[in-house]
Amino acid sequence: MNRQNKLRLYYIKDFITDLFFPNRCPVCGCIIESNRLVCSECENKLEALRSDDERLIERCQCSFGISIYYYAKEAKQGIISLKERNLNFGRHLGRELAVKAAAYDITAKADMVTYVPMSRRKLRIRGYNQAKVIAGELSLFTGIPLKDNILFRRDSEEQHTLGKADRVKNVSAFYCDENTDLSGKSIIICDDVITTGSTLQRCAELLKKLNAADIYIAAGTTTKYIKE
Ligand SMILES: [Zn+2]
Repeated sequence: MNRQNKLRLYYIKDFITDLFFPNRCPVCGCIIESNRLVCSECENKLEALRSDDERLIERCQCSFGISIYYYAKEAKQGIISLKERNLNFGRHLGRELAVKAAAYDITAKADMVTYVPMSRRKLRIRGYNQAKVIAGELSLFTGIPLKDNILFRRDSEEQHTLGKADRVKNVSAFYCDENTDLSGKSIIICDDVITTGSTLQRCAELLKKLNAADIYIAAGTTTKYIKE
């Protein structure tokens, strides 16, 4: 199926779903039209990341990093909803990242889109990976293929509940299948929130171990002051 038809089908699915389950703004919870992902009032309140702060993302050992909003107030609520089954904010972030990726010429250079993996246990509990929701939308709106099963995560404590020292230790929870060959491939890796950057840094390292060429980070949101 070509991309135009895929998108058409996608919008029809939204319309039909809306007949049975009202579409809600992931930030304030009000009912919105089936073709919207965030109500206009909340969308105007979302705080866009300044370009000087965006440069911080590049320290995750990548060639370039993009992110859309600060992880605060409305965006934070959007991420909470994304983890509680309202996927709208993840899709909104994926589309915004697609626009930014094109603006920074990443779309033309990347061969595939992947995402920060979730452990199997966590995936069973939540039913989906929110980073994959963002990656899937980014893939759909850029035409860059989505690639699953490149990176994996062992069951361990939740990353965001750990202190800095524990986080560094905890990144060993990530691993890859050493038989995968990504020689010469440029890859976009998605996540919902960047906090210290240690997770994405570890994922970028693993992709490089599989001979990937350029790594681009696409994070929906970034904490205001990256914690040390
Ligand atoms: Zn709203």
